[in-house]
This record gives sequence, structure tokens and C-alpha cells, in this order.
Amino acid sequence: MPTRKKFVAGNWKMNTTLAEAKALAAAVAKGVGADARVTVAVCPPFPWLTAAGEAVRGSAVALGAQDVAFEKKGAFTGEVSPAMLLDAGCTYAIVGHSERRHVLGESDAAINQKVHTALEEGLHVILCMGETLAERERGLQERVFQRQVFAACAGLTDEQFARLVIAYEPVWAIGTGKVATPEQAQEAHRFVRGKLRLLYGDKIADATPILYGGSVTADNAAGLLHQPDVDGALVGGASLKADSFLAIVKAAQG
Ligand code: PEP
Repeated sequence: MPTRKKFVAGNWKMNTTLAEAKALAAAVAKGVGADARVTVAVCPPFPWLTAAGEAVRGSAVALGAQDVAFEKKGAFTGEVSPAMLLDAGCTYAIVGHSERRHVLGESDAAINQKVHTALEEGLHVILCMGETLAERERGLQERVFQRQVFAACAGLTDEQFARLVIAYEPVWAIGTGKVATPEQAQEAHRFVRGKLRLLYGDKIADATPILYGGSVTADNAAGLLHQPDVDGALVGGASLKADSFLAIVKAAQG
């Protein structure tokens, strides 16, 4: 049975003031300390990355960005390059979050380009995917997973796959309080891992962490995290309070 280290990442979205971001990052760093049993990352808004990075320095907490540009440099007003993120102290970048896919209109092709650019430049990528409520109601979730995995991962090398983390985030569960049941999460994760196995082989399928995201809280984390194909959690709302985020990290450690 392959052992994948559990991974818990906090996506702060467009929340926190500078002072709040520093305090939250410091509290998470204090709570995690040097304990590296679980990989822990916080993903603050772009302008707070450097300050949050300083606050977690010396702890086992890694820094991630919520998005990344699809090109390496140049005339792309408003974009933030992978090199800038690395300079700011980031190890990770979230790519393809459902809010970027569905609110900001990011396509599978754009997401594939971002995944490539970020990995080529040395970042690790947390690739988000998942079905909408309408897609689930029409029984289309597996087709959606297949399309999203296939499109986002096209052309990656084995070395790049080693820096890819997938986050299954059913859109109907994000920020709604409607969490997937542990069985629903396990079924989706098993399907995605099966697709990875078919497309890219056993080594990649067994090594790639697949996180669950969507209304994870301190109360429901353990049930989700104990599923065999659920390797961690991408946490939105509950990552904005150190106590609830650290309780999820603790559930992942147990
Ligand atoms: C997210 O946005 O990645 C997320 C999972 O949000 P929430 O935990 O608030 O549902």
C-alpha cells in the first residue's frame, strides 16, 4: 500500500488585512512548529505573501499563492509570475480554483498553460478540479474529472508530476457548508487516481496526493481524511481562524 504524506493547505481567498494576515500566519506557525508529519501550507492574498512568509519562517509551514501567471514574464498587466512568487518565498501555487474557472472564466487550456509555467519555473502546483451541482445532478461528474485531469496534466514530465498535488473540490461544496460525505469524496478520489493510473502509470497514480476541498471544518475533517484516497484537505473558510485550521491539521496528523 503506498504511503502518501497528508497535506493541509489553507486558501485565504480575498480575505484578511495585512495585520490579520501576519497574525494568522504567526499563529499557524506557532501551532505547527517544526512538526512535519503533515505538509502544511497557507495561501494568503498576493500582497501579503512576503509578510506572511516572514511570519512562518523557521516553522514547517510552507507558503503558497492562490494563482499564478500563465507566462514567465513580460507585458501581462496585473499578473504575477512564478519567479516573483518564488522570490516572495512561495513553494506552492494554487491553479484552476473553481472561482477562477467559473467566476473568472479560466479555461482548461489556460489552466494547462499555468500548470506548465509554474512547474517549469520550480513551483509546486495545487491543481483544483471538480464538478458543479448541475453536472453532478446530470451524472456527469466522472466525465468532468476525466476532462479536467486530462486537460490540465497534458504534457507533464514525471519530474513535474512529482511537484503536482490535485485538489478535488466539488463546486457545490465550496463555501456552502454542504460538505461531500466521506464516501462521496472517496469515490471521486478513487476515480481520479484510476484515471491517473490509466493515463500516466502506477508510479504517478500512487504518488500524487489528492486533497479534498469544500466546506472542510474541524468537525468533519477526520472522517474525510481517513478515506484511503483522501490525502489531505484544501481549506477555505476554516483556514481563516488559526484554531479551526490547526484542528484540521491535527485531524490529518492523527
Ligand atoms: C476553497 O475555496 O478552496 C474551499 C475549499 O473553500 P471552503 O473550505 O470555504 O468551502
